[in-house]
Amino acid sequence: KLHNTILELKGNIRVFCRVRPSLPDDARADTQVVTYPSSLESLGRGIDVMQNGQKYPFTFDKVFSHDASQQDVFVEISQLVQSALDGYKVCIFAYGQTGSGKTYTMMGRPEAPELKGLIPRSLEQIFQASQVLMSQGWKYKMQASMLEIYNETIRDLLSPNRSSSGESSNAPGKQYNIKHDANGNTHVTDLTVVDVSSIAEISSLLRQAAQSRSVGKTQMNEQSSRSHFVFTLRIYGVNEGTEQQLQGVLNLIDLAGSERLSRSGATGDRLKETQAINKSLSCLADVIFALGKKEDHVPFRNSKLTYLLQPCLGGDSKTLMFVNVSPDPSSVGESLCSLKFAARVN
Ligand code: ADP
Ligand code: MG
Repeated sequence: KLHNTILELKGNIRVFCRVRPSLPDDARADTQVVTYPSSLESLGRGIDVMQNGQKYPFTFDKVFSHDASQQDVFVEISQLVQSALDGYKVCIFAYGQTGSGKTYTMMGRPEAPELKGLIPRSLEQIFQASQVLMSQGWKYKMQASMLEIYNETIRDLLSPNRSSSGESSNAPGKQYNIKHDANGNTHVTDLTVVDVSSIAEISSLLRQAAQSRSVGKTQMNEQSSRSHFVFTLRIYGVNEGTEQQLQGVLNLIDLAGSERLSRSGATGDRLKETQAINKSLSCLADVIFALGKKEDHVPFRNSKLTYLLQPCLGGDSKTLMFVNVSPDPSSVGESLCSLKFAARVN
């Protein structure tokens, strides 16, 4: 199939763009900033951004406009999620400025089932599909972990004894060193890893993680937008009939906001934070870019995030990056930056 050939050439890296709907707080403008080309070759894949009367066109593997539902988006990634159950290593990222829809895309909103995002939908699909495979002799062990990378420091979101006071919310004496073993498995020392066997268990873990994330949150500094959130599900499968074994990994990552320094007007701690975010996001781009180009040297070690995900980014692993874009006219500069970033890794 033609589509598969394209994926192979790109080293299994795909980029999807998603534009959120306009919100009441968005600035008003006479013309729309984001439009979609109607030409046949870019239908569903093109996005145009207007800035100062000039049009900037981009093409991705897929473009979801503001009216795409959570289900519309999930349909396009369900096969990728399924491949983790077949023994692949999968990473799905959400990249974009704060307020562009990353968390909506990954986690969704709790008010209604149809607003659920990729993380709950993916887990439901994996559990449902594993039930079917269990009737064919497969047995599974699944393990979940959730962490946050903030200022190049790992925080365990499932630690039972996190202190509830302020910024430094890791349990005392924990190291969280990243180690890769000879089998290509990643271990983070002292990180809580939980055996999961039902959607209910995962849902309660996701709630616990959301609570941990909001520790240290102040009005001025919404911590969750300044850290990378990494959900990891490890799947160990063994077929009792054929003795076949497999190990798959699904990583779902809500990245820190990509907004630039000038806009956040940062000094002191905020400046340090912003620099750490910018560094790790550009490291991620460097890594994906080098993988896409099949370069010999891939700079995984330059950031915690890329080092953590190293075994899941190279080889025959599969990577999908969502670039989330706001249609807010006052964000057009940031939107262009995000799209240029994504076009580079694509
Ligand atoms: P981010 O995580 O990138 O900072 P959010 O996911 O929190 O952004 O989105 C910002 C706001 O826009 C939230 O109120 C969210 O519910 C809303 N939103 C984002 N994407 C969509 C969408 N596709 N449909 C409806 N509302 C959305
Ligand atoms: Mg968010």
